[in-house]
Amino acid sequence: VVMSDEQAALFQKYVKSTRVRAARNISGYALPAGASKEDRLAVEGVLKEAFGGLPAELQGTYYPLGGLTSEQEDALQAGGFLFQKPGPMQLLGAAGAGRDWPDGRGIFHNDAKTVLCWCNEEDQCRIIAMENGGDVKGVFERFCSLSHAIKGAAEANGKKLMESPNLGFLGTCPSNLGTGLRASVMIVLPELNKDPHKLEEICAGFDLQPRGSSGEHSAAVGAKWDISNKQRIGFSEVELVQKMIDGITNIIAMEEELAAKAAGGEAAASEAEGSEETAAPVGEESKPQGEGAMEGQAMDDKEGEVAQPAAVEPEAEAAAEAPAETPAEAPAETPAETP
Ligand code: ADP
Ligand code: MG
Repeated sequence: VVMSDEQAALFQKYVKSTRVRAARNISGYALPAGASKEDRLAVEGVLKEAFGGLPAELQGTYYPLGGLTSEQEDALQAGGFLFQKPGPMQLLGAAGAGRDWPDGRGIFHNDAKTVLCWCNEEDQCRIIAMENGGDVKGVFERFCSLSHAIKGAAEANGKKLMESPNLGFLGTCPSNLGTGLRASVMIVLPELNKDPHKLEEICAGFDLQPRGSSGEHSAAVGAKWDISNKQRIGFSEVELVQKMIDGITNIIAMEEELAAKAAGGEAAASEAEGSEETAAPVGEESKPQGEGAMEGQAMDDKEGEVAQPAAVEPEAEAAAEAPAETPAEAPAETPAETP
């Protein structure tokens, strides 16, 4: 992964937090939507053993969901660390992934909450590295260590991950086939936020996807967006993280340009004040982002309303198309760090 000093400085200035996650499942047990109680508990058992075998720098504690108080659960969710219960009107819930909730579900994390694993949500395991700030390389490195360690720990216990030589990692949602990797930054974009649909188009031009500030299909509160790579398959982990870095660099440049224009417009307007009766500002003042800001957007994951299957556009399909031309420079050839 290549991140120039200029990019690092830009990310440090604009990015609130960085997260890299991927889906991992264990061969021999049904995926959560179709799992029996026994499967789910067996998976939890395998994962607990794997967590116990992690190297010192990745060590943490496993918290079964049923053992958390609702205050603890709320706090973890508010911090962006924990999944939500799949609702019956969401594809995941309707597909059966919410049965016997919260049995067999849980979260593993270290004290700093920079290394996390989810147990039996959409996938048997989601591995996550995250931290405040914009050090994408550091977060990705930790993600890679976690990825290798979980695989190694599962194999040490006589298990293997669901992985196909052609498709890569297998998971519940076809959109996650391949690397299963989503590398995201939380970033405040007051100018681009004024037109969420335009923002989505711009992101798509860089093979990126915007989400709201508390997960898929949530609103962008305070103009804070979660922007990540859109594809999971057809590219290496390194290439996907690089696309995110380069795309975000371009998006920040656009945001700065718009902000400069808006400031210029306001300056011109206030100069004209006095001679004109009312000087209308060129750039609208940041208006509050209402609920449902993302309504009507093309949804690429499975969390769309069951009643609107037409809105679901699988990522895998998008990934199969010829990669869109991005204004960003093509990432330099870099060896994949994980298969
Ligand atoms: P995924 O399915 O990829 O885990 P979701 O959209 O379901 O993603 O979001 C999961 C949680 O992770 C949400 O609470 C979201 O706000 C949080 N999150 C995603 N990206 C970041 C980030 N870069 N920094 C902090 N929190 C994040
Ligand atoms: Mg999710």
